[in-house]
Amino acid sequence: MHIGIIGAGITGVTTAYFLSKKGVDIDLIESRRYPGMATSYANGGQLSASNSEAWNSWYNVYNGIKGLITKNSSIKINPWPSVEKYLWLLSFIKIYQLKIKLQKIFVKWLLKVLIYIMK
Ligand SMILES: Cc1cc2nc3c(=O)[nH]c(=O)nc-3n(C[C@H](O)[C@H](O)[C@H](O)COP(=O)(O)OP(=O)(O)OC[C@H]3O[C@@H](n4cnc5c(N)ncnc54)[C@H](O)[C@@H]3O)c2cc1C
Repeated sequence: MHIGIIGAGITGVTTAYFLSKKGVDIDLIESRRYPGMATSYANGGQLSASNSEAWNSWYNVYNGIKGLITKNSSIKINPWPSVEKYLWLLSFIKIYQLKIKLQKIFVKWLLKVLIYIMK
């Protein structure tokens, strides 16, 4: 069997590793120059297999800013200029605002349904 895996992050690399151990032929396709250069790059190293906490919250934005001036912060951002990093930070905040909007729409919709059912 021959399988193509797109993305050489932790998911793609480990999938390729275990499938190749089973004798499967793998093509691991990565758009960046090296594997593990996207989300899997230099994260905290904490094993949180079932953690589904959303990172994009104002609490973490605050923590990120605090981390710039606090010595032992759990979140550290290298302030060195990088267009890619600052675009990512902006989209991080933008998606959070979108999430809040969607939550408001959902709550309004839920209330309407509840009122309709109770009538
Ligand atoms: C700051 C931070 C800290 C974190 N800390 C932890 C932690 O402590 N513990 C933990 O368990 N998790 C942590 N996480 C989450 C964890 O890093 C990610 O869940 C995990 O790395 C995702 O791996 P992945 O292989 O799915 O994605 P990625 O590592 O993002 O890999 C996807 C790969 O696909 C490539 N790709 C995308 N599109 C294409 C395409 N069209 N063609 C070819 N290649 C493509 C990308 O270039 C990339 O290399 C952290 C995440 C962040 C951002």
